[in-house]
Amino acid sequence: MAASERLSGPLPPRTRLWLDFVNTDAAAQSPGGDLLRDFEALLHWLQQQVAVDDERAAGIRRRAVLQPAAAAATLVDARRVRAALRALSERGEQVVRVRDDAVVEINRVLGRSAGTRRIDPHTDGGYTRSFVPTGDAFAGLMIPIVESAAESLVYQELGRIRRCADPRCHRVFLDATKNGLRRWCDMGTCGNRAKAARHRARSAGAR
Ligand SMILES: [Zn+2]
Repeated sequence: MAASERLSGPLPPRTRLWLDFVNTDAAAQSPGGDLLRDFEALLHWLQQQVAVDDERAAGIRRRAVLQPAAAAATLVDARRVRAALRALSERGEQVVRVRDDAVVEINRVLGRSAGTRRIDPHTDGGYTRSFVPTGDAFAGLMIPIVESAAESLVYQELGRIRRCADPRCHRVFLDATKNGLRRWCDMGTCGNRAKAARHRARSAGAR
């Protein structure tokens, strides 16, 4: 990608890390159920999202073997953060208390983590910001998630966050369309299903 192409907008029209994190709960919809079934699954997910780099992940993995109770507690904590963020994504725009609760949760995570911030160059010419925890490595794992949620609050994006219009789907997403009328988490799956259902209903009515 040419350097000029990445200057097209302040924030790319993609989803937010915290929303992807919320969607790992997948409630009743996916055959696999909760994506964060154990600590390793959580760490793997964070690695996939580049929210933790491979070197740090390897260190944390070794620590998790030595301190299984701390790893288990980290997973419980991650699910707690996720529940607060799920509520924020679905009702935060309308309900002040939900928003306040999420802010308490975000600040709880931000407040207990000490570390340093840095930016690193990418091979493609871009840069990423990262947070390198000092002290308890487990405590820093949720930082990128809650920072992403904090940014959505700071930039007042909650009004653009929707739950998929398919009642069987629990996914939330950022509506980055100009008209703000996006209804489905993904046109390829839920959007297509709705289109097919409308088509069936029309053909049945025509008969
Ligand atoms: Zn959906």
